[in-house]
Amino acid sequence: MSERRPFVGGNWKMNSTLKGASELIRGVADALAGEIAPIDVAVFPPCVYLLAVKSILRDRQSPIMLGAQDVYPEAEGAFTGEVSVDMLRDCGVQVILAGHSERRHVIGEDDELINRKVKAILEGGLRCVLCVGETLEQREDGRTHEVNEIQLRSGLAGIAEGLVDNLVIAYEPVWAIGTGQTATPDDAEEAHEKIREVLKDMYDGVSDRLRIIYGGSVKPGNAAGLFGQRSIDGGLIGGASLKIADFVPIVRASMQSVRSASE
Ligand code: PEP
Repeated sequence: MSERRPFVGGNWKMNSTLKGASELIRGVADALAGEIAPIDVAVFPPCVYLLAVKSILRDRQSPIMLGAQDVYPEAEGAFTGEVSVDMLRDCGVQVILAGHSERRHVIGEDDELINRKVKAILEGGLRCVLCVGETLEQREDGRTHEVNEIQLRSGLAGIAEGLVDNLVIAYEPVWAIGTGQTATPDDAEEAHEKIREVLKDMYDGVSDRLRIIYGGSVKPGNAAGLFGQRSIDGGLIGGASLKIADFVPIVRASMQSVRSASE
């Protein structure tokens, strides 16, 4: 655990219903009410449920941030099916994911589009979680750090140091996402340290402040081990963020890492 404020996000992906999403956010917000001061917590519901989730968070004056899973980098116009940064901000969104492996590998987004999204999000004044990570094949070829570096340098190309205070990096090895296989705390720590070296090279003045979080089958049982590592500043949680009984203890494990570090 470092002195950086941890960030824990729940990526709901394309799951739930309006009723289910409302029950989930009510349960999470109520369970954590008054507890989450030492860390940042965000949820990333499907786009169509953003307003409903926002309204529940606002009614409870919850500090949980509202996140969006995706955005289109243009401001407005003939882009059927897409939404802009301004539209998301209008719905109360504070943070947006970019470069998630499912968008890279299932939807087919390339580094150039991801870079445009990161730019649009940061220039629009919102926070951005840029996800990077290697596939199993790349890992077996010994290319983990090279792939992370390529995705970082291309995702952040042309983005000035003055904008990156609102940036969080999520290291999400593709082979660990939704598979039940998790990187060991030591493996994740090593990847995070290498990512920080690249960030230092790119943004020397601020790199120490940037948060690097881990994603990939984080569960209540492995969260404390991961969040206890010096270079792991929280997590991006997929499957386990859909269950109150799993997400809440994961958030608490992150809060506990702050307390342990200050003892
Ligand atoms: C994710 O979707 O970012 C993720 C890490 O998923 P999971 O926790 O299910 O592996």
